[in-house]
Amino acid sequence: MAPPKSALEFLDFVNASPTPYHAVANSAALLDAAGFTLIRERDNWASTVKPGGKYYTTRNGSSVVAFAVGARWKPGNPIGMVGAHTDSPCLRLKPVSKRSANGYLQVGVETYGGGIWHSWFDRDLGVAGRVLVREGEGEGKFVQKLVKVDKPILRIPTLAIHLHRQTNFDPNKEDELLPIAGLAEAELNKTAEPEAEAEGGDFQPLKAMPERHHPAFLSLVAEQAGVDVSQIIDFELVLYDTHKACLGGLNDEFILSARLDNLNMTFCSIKGLIGSAQSTPLDNDSSIRLVACFDHEEIGSLSAQGADSNLLPAILRRLSVLPGATTPSASASDLAASTAFEQTLATSFLLSADMAHAVHPNYAAKYERNHTPAMNKGPVIKINANQRYATNSPGIVLVQEVARQSAVPLQLFVVKNDSPCGSTIGPMLSAKLGVRTLDMGNPQLSMHSIRETGGSADVESAVRLFEGFLGRFSELEGRILVD
Ligand SMILES: [Zn+2]
Repeated sequence: MAPPKSALEFLDFVNASPTPYHAVANSAALLDAAGFTLIRERDNWASTVKPGGKYYTTRNGSSVVAFAVGARWKPGNPIGMVGAHTDSPCLRLKPVSKRSANGYLQVGVETYGGGIWHSWFDRDLGVAGRVLVREGEGEGKFVQKLVKVDKPILRIPTLAIHLHRQTNFDPNKEDELLPIAGLAEAELNKTAEPEAEAEGGDFQPLKAMPERHHPAFLSLVAEQAGVDVSQIIDFELVLYDTHKACLGGLNDEFILSARLDNLNMTFCSIKGLIGSAQSTPLDNDSSIRLVACFDHEEIGSLSAQGADSNLLPAILRRLSVLPGATTPSASASDLAASTAFEQTLATSFLLSADMAHAVHPNYAAKYERNHTPAMNKGPVIKINANQRYATNSPGIVLVQEVARQSAVPLQLFVVKNDSPCGSTIGPMLSAKLGVRTLDMGNPQLSMHSIRETGGSADVESAVRLFEGFLGRFSELEGRILVD
């Protein structure tokens, strides 16, 4: 059996995306190739965004919102949306990372999100992220460069079993999760890096980067960024497993990968939007098709670019008053004062896409017996009476209708009453916007491990579901009425 094409494309995407910055850059590359135009939030969109066009914008380089405007769009019309997140639990370099102990060089790291930290031990860890560098003569300007040091420069070794016989492995996150980066002796023999003294005694409000981080480490990062060490002013770097994601299982039925949660849904939603513009042309569409992939879900979404920010509301407001091709020439201020925004919210729908839990054969008792999602049996609709998930019946009717037309199987998930329940961006966005929302995601095992397991056939299923939802939303929206 040939591995599904979408699964192979996903492997390339996830391998190239060790950080949200890379995930956004790689999403942008897919969108560019499909004819989407980059626009910026800081600009006026009046002369650029038009019915029939395809656009995307980014915030902080770590969240991305892409949309395609139906040619028959009118202010106040519905917007069909898919939401996902670009971040995953990881270890991030501390602002002063330079440490050493017992002859080893070490780097200080900070935990991000709720990772399964014991899975980070004995891995071949590289670093990636963004570096802010000074460019040009004189005062110059500061630009962002993405870096990926794709070799195992860091490692968190386990303690030999002979020295520590234990049944539960629960490392201390401050003292025992500290990577080694080499031997102090080797570092001493290296020629000294140019220090900040070269600046001619200028006042420096912070210690120079070579004082905060190991010089050999900075050299590797500078080489990756294509700059001198002296140009690096700051960075946000995280650790990642250099072991590439791959297919697994006797019949390639699995995807073994980091960051399935939630780059799988980020990839599928972007591909679904691109595919919908090809399979269902925008010519007859009176809605807007939109995908929003947010940073910072793993830490609660409360940041300028998280799902709890004004990112999506601000974009929806700007789009809701976008004049149609045949809208009489009302002035922009008339439109802004109209009720188009509220009408758009009342008619729109959000598919909140975040990975779901496949049943684990060794821990089946942890799952509600009638709700045990299987791998490669399609996206999972997540339901919770206590609204940890925003799913309700009208949403299930809508998604079921899309799935029927797209021939995509669906599954249902609910947690046991005596089990904790995760949550995601769905309830938050639905409360903030008052938009009808459904929570769903592809099934996976080992969520938040450094190496997760998903289904290779489920990638194609989710792409098709999103493509069908975005392409047919304007036609289906009016058929499911509650209020
Ligand atoms: Zn997630």
